[in-house]
This record gives sequence, structure tokens and C-alpha cells, in this order.
Amino acid sequence: MPTTSPDKILITVAPTGAETTKADCPQLPTTLEELVQAAQECEAAGAAMIHVHIRDADHQPTLDQTRLHDTVQALRESTDLVVQLSTGGSVHDPLEHRLKVLDAQPDSCSLTMGTTNFGDDVFSNPWPFVCELYQLSQERQVVPEFELFDLGQVHALRRLLDTYGLPYGGSVHCDFVMGVPGGMPGTAPALVAGVAMLPPEVTSWSATGIGRSTLPVMLAALSMGGHLRVGMEDVLTLAKGVPVERNAQLVERAVRAADVARRSPMTPAEAGGLLGLGLSRSEK
Ligand SMILES: [Zn+2]
Repeated sequence: MPTTSPDKILITVAPTGAETTKADCPQLPTTLEELVQAAQECEAAGAAMIHVHIRDADHQPTLDQTRLHDTVQALRESTDLVVQLSTGGSVHDPLEHRLKVLDAQPDSCSLTMGTTNFGDDVFSNPWPFVCELYQLSQERQVVPEFELFDLGQVHALRRLLDTYGLPYGGSVHCDFVMGVPGGMPGTAPALVAGVAMLPPEVTSWSATGIGRSTLPVMLAALSMGGHLRVGMEDVLTLAKGVPVERNAQLVERAVRAADVARRSPMTPAEAGGLLGLGLSRSEK
């Protein structure tokens, strides 16, 4: 079974995502200035890692190299957060552009373990792409976070580790992304099944539930000793009819829920230890 710290919790914030438009949600942080402000507020509230998707000048998802690089630098200068770049981009980004994300030298990158229907779209992660991205992360010394949308993807992680060995840093951290229309449901039984299937190499896991599955997944993860991802990428309301105004509100709620479970938020440095970032952060 994976080991988890009994009294500390890693809270990751995913403040933007690639799905919601600025027009639909003006408070979504889409500019670099808004992202940095959200990151600082979330760090103050208890987040230790940030999962980043960037937007262009028109607030559309982009994988522009300069913007990615500038975003990583700005977050490093203005926060201590572990900086994780999404390699998912949006569902429309070509695979070769998604590999280029590692050129921006983030601490961590997301690595989705298989293709998933995403509403009416397809989030494409063919096996050869998964393998290429994984090997590139090892070469570039970027710590992957394995995103698991489905039980089959948990099994694919076992195959990946068997074939290519451990990630850079030696830790294996996963994130269950649940309740995506096309993936596993955001329920306690689905999380229990997923955790039971994790390969023994896994050292930590977090979970997030999309939309209305946010609270069930958060409570199930807490009860199982898991870590949490929260943020406006995954949910836009605090309760029915109550919109999220700031990402920090979701971090604050996660901290309160964790406190009930007698767990306190990790600092970014503690998160770095958990994730196996080691000394590499200060050298980048
Ligand atoms: Zn994402």
C-alpha cells in the first residue's frame, strides 16, 4: 500500500484549467498578473503546489513557449509553491506541442495515463505519447504527477513503471481526476477501487472531483489519508448558486475539511520532500 503522512496534507491548487471561458467566468485567473495574485493568495491559504494551464492575450488556452517560461519564472519569483505545468494543454493541442511544455523547466508536470472522452471532446493520450513524455520527464529531471481519470489508467501506470522505472526523484505521486464525463465517477467506491489498484511504487496520491463530485471526493480522500487538489479548473461553485470568487476560497475550504480530519497543510518545502524534488529546485 502507498504510504501517506498521517498528519500533513498536500493541497494543490488548479486555478484556471483549459475548459472555462473568461466570458463565462470573469473571475477566472487568465492573465499572468491574475495568476500570480491567485497563487499568492492560495499559498497564504495553505496550498503547496500549483497546477498551471496558461491563456493567451485573448484568454484562450495556449502552450506558447515564451508565456510558459515567463509564467514559471513569475511564480518562482513571487511564491514558494511547487510549480507544476499541465502537459494536457487543451483537448485541441497537438501532441508535439504538449511535449514542449517541459522546455519551460517546471518542477513538476502532469502526465495523464490514457485517452479519455471529455464531454463531447477526446483528451488524447496514446500510449507512445505517454511513454515519450515520461522518458522526457526523467531526462529533464521534472517530477511527473500521474493523472488518473479511470481505473484502466491506474493499470497503465503499473505498466509504465515496470517498463521505464521510477520517475526522477524516486517518488511516485498520482492524482485521481474524478467525475469527468467520460472517466470514472467522483464517488467514494470509485476512489477506493482506484487506491486499491495503485502499484506498490506509489508514494502519495491526491484526488479531485469535478463539479458536484468535489465534496464527496474530498471527504473520501481525507478519510483514506489522501491529499487534495482543488481549484477553479475543477469546480466553479461553492454551493448551488454560489459562485467561487477566488481560488483561495476553495483552498480555505480544503484546509477546514482537513482540520476536521486532524491534518494540517504541508509547506511547499514539505511538498517538495514528498514529491522527491530534492535539491533540484534551487538549482533551476
Ligand atoms: Zn489541468
